[in-house]
Amino acid sequence: MIENDFPDIEKILRKMTNRKEKNMARLIDGKKISQQIKDELKEKVAAMKSEGKEIGMAVIQVGNDPASSVYVGNKKKACEYIGIRSESYELPEETTQEELITLIGKLNDDDRIHGILVQLPVPKHIDEDTVIKAISPRKDVDGFHPQSVGALSIGQKGFVSCTPAGIIQLLKRSNVDIEGRECVVIGRSNIVGKPMALLLLRENGTVTVTHSKTRDLKEVCRRADILVVAVGRPKMIDASYVKEGAVVIDVGIHRDENNRLCGDVDFESVEQVASAITPVPGGVGPMTIAMLMNNCVEAALL
Ligand code: NDP
Repeated sequence: MIENDFPDIEKILRKMTNRKEKNMARLIDGKKISQQIKDELKEKVAAMKSEGKEIGMAVIQVGNDPASSVYVGNKKKACEYIGIRSESYELPEETTQEELITLIGKLNDDDRIHGILVQLPVPKHIDEDTVIKAISPRKDVDGFHPQSVGALSIGQKGFVSCTPAGIIQLLKRSNVDIEGRECVVIGRSNIVGKPMALLLLRENGTVTVTHSKTRDLKEVCRRADILVVAVGRPKMIDASYVKEGAVVIDVGIHRDENNRLCGDVDFESVEQVASAITPVPGGVGPMTIAMLMNNCVEAALL
């Protein structure tokens, strides 16, 4: 699902001013925060350039899945905005795993490339895990390499998956305290739920991870001061899952029955009980690319 060119964000932002009077949840504005991060990075990159350091990112797409093409396009646009040189590799669907791994190997050895991104999913005849492992951990700007994941789990330095890293930035830059708070994450995927839980733990939250086998999900969720929803089911989480005053982060992106973007959270219901909430679109979505850019700048500083 793609989160851009969506006019409703302006409407949502206009509504923000009236929300306090109506006792509705404060909106956590991911569009604004991601722009701040990109502007900070732009300055950093300009300073690095003036010292003769140019940053390069390789973006590889295999096949021409339309959603992937839009994502790749957005990533290239963000590189351009920040001042990162992006090298694009648009490979045909029938590219073999060996050919892809050979290209990654060359890019691993190329000093002008600091970040390597393979747009997922790759075609079925290519093994995703093998591809991820082929990327040098020093250039693993998506944070998916087992070494990056392992480093996160034992509290060592390494690249962190962009969506959960973006959520931590959203919370911090919106002055939401994590330390000592009850944090519940719905979902345990490798790219969102698990790294999210580890990051909240790193920030000294008290963390519970839930999934499809969790008993009495509602009761567990109602304990949360911070509820991160990455369940992958449109509007599943309504007010009955949310404690009065909780902060709710909605990771989901879907289209509803009217073809409008929506999240995993039933926004209209939850905004009545939460103290703060991320909208969809304009919440978590824009943060993912901002954090990818951040990882690429970090990679160039290694
Ligand atoms: P996955 O489908 O990989 O994981 C979903 C998780 O939710 C699983 O752990 C699953 O449990 C759990 N789950 C499913 N149904 C239930 C249920 N009824 N009760 C409790 N838990 C349940 O999704 P992702 O983590 O990849 O993505 C989650 C959402 O976030 C999606 O909507 C996706 O589109 C969106 N997304 C948005 C991004 C962004 O940039 N905004 C980036 C990445 C994802 P189990 O493990 O037991 O199967």
